[in-house]
Parts: sequence; structure tokens; C-alpha cells
Amino acid sequence: MFDGLKDKLDSFRSDVEESAEDGSGADPEGAAEPEPPDEPSAETDGVEDTAAGDAPADADSPSRLQRAKAFATGKVVLEEEDLEEPLWNLEMALLESDVEMGVAEAILDQIRSNLVGETKSQMASTGDLVEDALRDALLEVISVGQFDFDERIAEADKPVTIVFTGVNGVGKTTTIAKMARYLEERGHSSVLANGDTYRAGANEQIREHAEALGKRLIAHEQGGDPAAVIYDGVEYAEANDVDVVLGDTAGRLHTSSDLMAQLEKIDRVVDPDLTLFVDESVAGQDAVERAQQFDDAAEIDGAVLTKADADSQGGAAISVAYVTGKPVLFLGTGQGYDDLDRFDPESLVDDLVG
Ligand code: GDP
Repeated sequence: MFDGLKDKLDSFRSDVEESAEDGSGADPEGAAEPEPPDEPSAETDGVEDTAAGDAPADADSPSRLQRAKAFATGKVVLEEEDLEEPLWNLEMALLESDVEMGVAEAILDQIRSNLVGETKSQMASTGDLVEDALRDALLEVISVGQFDFDERIAEADKPVTIVFTGVNGVGKTTTIAKMARYLEERGHSSVLANGDTYRAGANEQIREHAEALGKRLIAHEQGGDPAAVIYDGVEYAEANDVDVVLGDTAGRLHTSSDLMAQLEKIDRVVDPDLTLFVDESVAGQDAVERAQQFDDAAEIDGAVLTKADADSQGGAAISVAYVTGKPVLFLGTGQGYDDLDRFDPESLVDDLVG
């Protein structure tokens, strides 16, 4: 999972190391002896209260001061020039991995502000500094909006209604089936409600999963009102003490205003506790764009990215939360019912950078 991205992040680390070792910032011997920082002199003596800005700006620039102090203690300072080329390469690598442009920029800004002027002892590894900066920057964008899904379900009034949105073929129905298993393992019963009344064969497809999992399915005929099906699911859950209603929806194109109107109606009629947007991790920026569009039609509470097992780039996993402000909550990692993993930003970042 995300192996291509891992390699690229690793290259960034070695790039900075190389650059810092060749660059002036890391070469106390080769660098011109920095001038000692000018202490504010007594020049202003006797002059009444003029602006204190007379000292030469160049000599007092923070970077020179820092470098001078670092030299005195046998340390070196990473400078902007050391990072310029590695950061450019990193930006290209992130974009190649289908990370959304604004997200890539946020990552670079964060790394730049963490690393420039960073003092390291000559013994400490530049690689460690880079790794920490990379870790912080990734975590900042990936963990936007995170909440504890298990706790939310456990504490909510029952039944909890979860509606799944997204386009066709991305793994939405499979994800609902996986979620039924996931909930069962945590002691929550569930009922499936097929709000995809549009597609021929949708009832049969979800019924197969329901039967395999031993779950009740609420379904109407093709062409029926999706909001009514999910509403029936809620009534069934209330009458039978079922904890969670898992509602599927039609996966037509996000550009279809019809579908979007349908989602809005479900939102109004059922008022779901959670709306989860499902898309493929492998779809990269397309998934990010769709997440935004679905969020506009029927506000999402989080996203599930399927087929992460087949994705070496990781662009969607890095970008969705930052762009939509809604967290990625799960990754689909295979075709089996157990292949649904909680999205854990810390362990993902460990995996990417560690
Ligand atoms: P839907 O049209 O969005 O409901 O998509 P389906 O649930 O029918 O899934 C489409 C295909 O993707 C099926 O063959 C699933 O087995 C497969 N699939 C779903 N999730 C995953 C996943 O996490 N990893 C992999 N490798 N395949 C998946």
C-alpha cells in the first residue's frame, strides 16, 4: 500500500542530506567565517529616542545570527538554499503521486518552516530532522477532522443511521457489507437498506452480501423512492432493537443533478447520523474532487477509501481530509469482509516515513 509514495518520501530525505552536506550551511570549514553578530552598539548614545532600526539589517539577519551562534558551538544550520532543490523534487513527487496541489503546497510550507534555520549538531543526522519535519507536515494534512468512529457509534442514540454515497463501481456496496461485519465485531447489530433503487440488479447484489453475513435487508422494487427504503430500514431497526441502519444509495454520476436531489431528499427525510462518502483510493485527485461535490450535495461526515491495497500512490489518502475538511475514516484493503481498516493518521505516517 502506497509504496511508490514511500519511495518518493525517502528520496526527499536523502536529497536534503546530500544537499546539506554539500551546501554552505553544513560545511563549517568551507564556508566563509561568519562575522560575529554585531551587538547593538552605543551609537545611539546621546541621540534622543530615534528609531532603533539603524543597525545594518544584513549583519543582524536571524539566519546569520543563528549560523554564527551555531558555529561557535560546533553546530550547523539548514538553510533555505539547502532545501530548495529537494523541496522542488518533493513537490514534483507529491504531484506525481496525485496529491492535490494545495495539499502539496501545505506540506512544503510546513516542512520549510520546520527545517529552515533548524540547528543540528554535526553528529546528529540530517535524516532525522527531515523525517521529523516530514512526519509533522503529513500528519497536519492527513489528520484534519479526525474523530473516534467507534466511540461515536457506541455513544449515539440507537438506531444509528449511516448513509453511504459515491459513484458506481468504487466498492460502496462491498464497503457496506464490510461495515456490517466491522460493527458486529464491536457488538453492534445492523440492518441493510438498499436505497439504490435505480440500478437493475442492485437488490440482488446487496442481498448476496446480506445473506452471506446473516443480515436483514430492507429493499423496495427498482424505481422506488430511496428515501422511503432507508426510512423503512430505520423503522425496522426501531421495532427490532437493531443498533445501526446501513443505507446504500444509487451511485450515478456526481454530475447528475437528479441523484444529488435524491441525496438531499434522503438527508431531509431520514436525517442520517452519519453520511460516509466512498471512493477508490486509486482514483487519486478524481476521488478528491468527487468528495467535494458529494459533500456539497449532502454534507458528508467522513470518507472511506477503497482499494487502498491496489494503490501505490496514496494521493487521495493524503488529500481528501485537507481539501474537504472531513476525515478519511476507513481504508478498504481487499475484497474480503474483514478488509476494512480504521484510518489511523499516526500509523499511516509512521508507515510512510518510518
Ligand atoms: P459499487 O458499485 O460501488 O457498489 O461497487 P462494489 O461494491 O460492487 O465493488 C466493485 C468491485 O470492487 C468488486 O469487485 C469488489 O470486490 C471490489 N472491491 C471493493 N472494495 C475493495 C477493496 O478495498 N480492495 C479491492 N482490491 N477490491 C475492492
